[in-house]
Amino acid sequence: MKDKLQNKLAKRFPELSQDLGKSPKESCMAWGFSIGNGWAKLFEMLCEDLDKVRKEECPDLKFEQVKEKYGRLRVYLYGGNDHTIELVDMYEVGSGFICESCGKLGRMNGRGWIKCLCNSCRNPAWYKRWWKKAMYFLDWRIFRRCRPKSWMVE
Ligand SMILES: [Zn+2]
Repeated sequence: MKDKLQNKLAKRFPELSQDLGKSPKESCMAWGFSIGNGWAKLFEMLCEDLDKVRKEECPDLKFEQVKEKYGRLRVYLYGGNDHTIELVDMYEVGSGFICESCGKLGRMNGRGWIKCLCNSCRNPAWYKRWWKKAMYFLDWRIFRRCRPKSWMVE
């Protein structure tokens, strides 16, 4: 995640992200929020929900680690309860449908390094070619349909 985004979230949720910037020996939060920018909004929503639970039920709640694993958002917490587990699970499932790179609708790839991405982020060159072909096809269809019929011309 971009530093700017991370700083914004750290400022908005200082209790949850209090271990950001600690040394790697002390906390995995030393690596920051290790997720793509496409998940920034999703992660912000999770922070909002968790912060609400923190205020009402678990005052010690904080992040232990935030990362991407097997294409999904993985969050480890300290001081949570059943509600926080439920929230984290819910957002983990949600992240499986959002492109980690750009935030559009994405999906998992079946093989290789598993990531949740949209078509254009996964393979820009292929997608560009595909898009060009699709546009060409569309043009052709429209052109054929709009061609004046013989009875119109005569
Ligand atoms: Zn994308």
